[in-house]
Amino acid sequence: MYLSDYHFHTHCSSDSTATLSQQAKAAISAGVREICVTDHWNLLDQQGKRLDTVYDWKRPLEQWRRLRHRWPGQLEVRLGVEVGNGVLNPAAVDAGLELPELDFVIGSLHSQSAAAGGRGIFTVAHACTRREEGAAVLEDYVGMLEELVQGAGYDVLGHIIYPLRYLPPEFELDLRPWWDRLAEVLRSAAAQGKGIEFNTTAGTTVEQWRDVLTLYRDLGGEVLTLGSDAHRPAHMAAAFPQALELIRAVGFRYLCVYRRRTPLFCKL
Ligand SMILES: [Zn+2]
Ligand SMILES: [Zn+2]
Repeated sequence: MYLSDYHFHTHCSSDSTATLSQQAKAAISAGVREICVTDHWNLLDQQGKRLDTVYDWKRPLEQWRRLRHRWPGQLEVRLGVEVGNGVLNPAAVDAGLELPELDFVIGSLHSQSAAAGGRGIFTVAHACTRREEGAAVLEDYVGMLEELVQGAGYDVLGHIIYPLRYLPPEFELDLRPWWDRLAEVLRSAAAQGKGIEFNTTAGTTVEQWRDVLTLYRDLGGEVLTLGSDAHRPAHMAAAFPQALELIRAVGFRYLCVYRRRTPLFCKL
């Protein structure tokens, strides 16, 4: 099959020091045929401070142009971006995505809503001391997902289970109490020809995805990308064999890659 890693970072993201060349070589070693670099464009920082509403494409574009034809016939290198909390300013996001070279956009929510303070979900979830606080993080998160799914500034919804990565495991929280609302979000994405990603988070979250993937598939969802969210070469394509096994078991028939924001369906 034509294996792709559609979510990873380089030094153009503030939380990675990897070069695109290092990430690409790691992908080739893992049997990947196509990658899409998705560096961060966050509209909020962890403290809730507003960040640039104009994305500086200079470095990511230069890096990609230099390397896109480096591995002909071996590795296809595509350009994407991961927009964090684009719901804050949809018009600015749409303007920032008007780049002819851009193939793919992940719409993620890394921070709480402005009404909840806008702090990073990573920070807030780690600081939760009571189960109800954790549930409030999820409530706020699902509300933002409902907003995000309606907009234009994404092709796939990024790591839908994101808060579950960071909430204290002893709270035993999951998205079940919000299942009907989540189903509506997935139905809406599918109806618009958009999709979701299966984000293996450097190989740590494969099993956490089973229920969401099953729900999405049962609702007729077909547009699915696979990404490791690698911030370093050792995590490129992490846990992809297990992820593929799960994707097939749930009933998906394709993995998607993108050309100019349009999905191409690759048979599994
Ligand atoms: Zn992310
Ligand atoms: Zn990411």
